[in-house]
Amino acid sequence: MSKYDYLVVGAGLFGAIFAHEAAKKGKMIKVIEKREHIAGNVYTKEVEGIQVHEYGAHIFHTSDKEIWEYINQFAEFNRYTNSPVANYKGEIYNLPFNMNTFNKLWGVVTPAEAQEKIEAQRAVLNGKVPENLEEQAISLVGTDIYQKLIKDYTEKQWGKKTTELPAFIIRRLPVRLTYDNNYFNDTYQGIPIGGYTQIVEKMLDHENIDVETGTDFFLIRKNILLTILKLSLLG
Ligand SMILES: Cc1cc2nc3c(=O)[nH]c(=O)nc-3n(C[C@H](O)[C@H](O)[C@H](O)COP(=O)(O)OP(=O)(O)OC[C@H]3O[C@@H](n4cnc5c(N)ncnc54)[C@H](O)[C@@H]3O)c2cc1C
Repeated sequence: MSKYDYLVVGAGLFGAIFAHEAAKKGKMIKVIEKREHIAGNVYTKEVEGIQVHEYGAHIFHTSDKEIWEYINQFAEFNRYTNSPVANYKGEIYNLPFNMNTFNKLWGVVTPAEAQEKIEAQRAVLNGKVPENLEEQAISLVGTDIYQKLIKDYTEKQWGKKTTELPAFIIRRLPVRLTYDNNYFNDTYQGIPIGGYTQIVEKMLDHENIDVETGTDFFLIRKNILLTILKLSLLG
């Protein structure tokens, strides 16, 4: 440790950006990463020409031009717009719920018609204060959206019936009364061509940065603290 100014725990985007910026300012950095690879949750690897996002798909999104320009130094981004769809028993619906979803569900065309439909479906609760997630969802978006787009997904995610889950889990569900399938509201979004791992590789590729993978901080912290203690006693 003696030659380092900073020990960075974790070689994800956060750790890599810190290391990169500190190294540019002349600091000496040691990065340790408990996984066998760098890049953290945005780790991607090429399989048969396809960039596989090992820990789940990652779409970079921001409304901050400076951040967008910063990340674009390290890779070229494609023009990907996240517009997910839900498959309910073969029926395809746009998410997050918007006028395209409502048109498919009920044939409504205007926001007023959609709102009217949702209001009518909420009425089944007769003004009752929601006591569980099912009632809370119905009070927010009505019965059809709840049945088709919330119930099964939520029960799978939580491993429990929605009637057994507390209402507070979904205090609000965004309902968009526009024909916009874009999941994110941010100005800039995309996926780096060639994957994310190359970005983190480039960030960490500096003569002032040493990277050690397969090392858990909690297993070596005693040694590190002892070294720091010795150095401070000597110094
Ligand atoms: C399935 C999924 C999908 C996501 N999709 C998106 C998306 O589309 N867009 C978006 O903006 N964000 C998304 N995120 C969030 C995104 O993953 C994070 O914002 C981003 O990766 C965080 O970077 P990070 O460096 O803070 O953390 P991480 O990427 O988690 O990096 C932390 C690193 O620290 C290491 N570490 C932890 N403890 C120790 C230790 N004791 N010793 C050594 N190393 C340690 C970990 O192994 C890890 O590599 C998603 C997350 C998941 C799980």
